[in-house]
Amino acid sequence: MTDCDSQLRDELSALRQQGLYRELKQVDSPQQPRIQIGKQVVLNFSSNDYLGLANHPKLKEAALEAVARYGAGAGASRLICGSLAPHHALEERLATFKGTQAALAFSTGYAAALGTICAIVGPDDIVILDKLVHACIIDAARLSKAKIRVFRHNDLNELEDLLKWAGQQRKASANTTSPRVLVVTESVFSMDGDLAPLKEIGVLKETHGAWLMVDEAHATGLYGLHRRGLVEASGMSGRVEIQMGTLGKALGAAGGFITGSRTLIDFLINKARSFIFSTAPVPAAVAAASAAVDLVQAGSGEQACRDLWELVSNVPATVAGLESKPVSPIVPIHIGDESAAVAQATALRKRNIYIPAIRYPTVARGRARLRLTLTAAHTRADLEQFASAFAAETSAHAT
Ligand SMILES: *Cc1c(COP(=O)(O)O)cnc(C)c1O
Repeated sequence: MTDCDSQLRDELSALRQQGLYRELKQVDSPQQPRIQIGKQVVLNFSSNDYLGLANHPKLKEAALEAVARYGAGAGASRLICGSLAPHHALEERLATFKGTQAALAFSTGYAAALGTICAIVGPDDIVILDKLVHACIIDAARLSKAKIRVFRHNDLNELEDLLKWAGQQRKASANTTSPRVLVVTESVFSMDGDLAPLKEIGVLKETHGAWLMVDEAHATGLYGLHRRGLVEASGMSGRVEIQMGTLGKALGAAGGFITGSRTLIDFLINKARSFIFSTAPVPAAVAAASAAVDLVQAGSGEQACRDLWELVSNVPATVAGLESKPVSPIVPIHIGDESAAVAQATALRKRNIYIPAIRYPTVARGRARLRLTLTAAHTRADLEQFASAFAAETSAHAT
């Protein structure tokens, strides 16, 4: 064996010992509540396809039409020659849907975070993050070389202290606009399913002259009168400088996007390296996303959203030992120990329930959990099937 392989193998066995080893499971069916893994059909509570659009006929049709008309590949980066009509159509729809001046599509949400944060802040600036933000935001902040400060999850006092400190840095500098101060938070937190106090964060960032970027990955399509996200539901429309989203969760396709002012979007087209130096998303993906944006805004989107919230309100308290009712379709079932979480997930899978164990580094060490996610395509009966399998497993474990 080569030296490379032998060193990597040592690291992998260390991961195994800590219950942190990960492997891919091949799924042999479309994304839907019941998926096929090998010969087994399992009830799937692990997908972010919140509105059940990933396998929707309208999205598939739009993707096929786009392939017929524009081909399979995009050919190049948007700025070279890959800026196809479907990309422009999607961006117009996203801006209208979100109620912003403009939008920019990226190949993934991850790329959107990386390109945007690095374009907006640099080594002279300050980025302030909630402790629980997604890995792509942490990676982006690091890559930007800005000074990073982290506040405890949803802790407004700590955020205020950091904003005051950042304000002093600016006073000390000769330049009234430097350092730039960017606060970044998720609106619905991906692994805890709780909500950021966006209104209060908005007041703080305005008081202290900072800018706010909100990652709506798990909120787009689900919150607010027009289902724009938690920014809308919190009455913060027009007060958030940068909104980010993914096309891969409630919107059922793949890709990421930024919405905001026309100036912001023009700036990103010129400065966001993950946009400039990467091949444009394929026509099929953007056309499917456009169809999803149409659906979300239509009556059927409203209905799917209502179905989802109805289901969320029926999650039995016994499932998660929940202190409070879930406020999103993400319901974490806390286990703690990594190996115990894996064992629990394996046991549930034997009962035909698929919920993978979420472990470090996705969440902190010793904070492993099962992450139950509900979609509009699940039924009450599905939820009951889960609850009884979970109860049977828990009592089997206790005896
Ligand atoms: C999934 C996710 C992303 C990344 O989006 P992709 O389109 O999957 O790359 C960003 N932020 C959060 C909070 C996410 O959960």
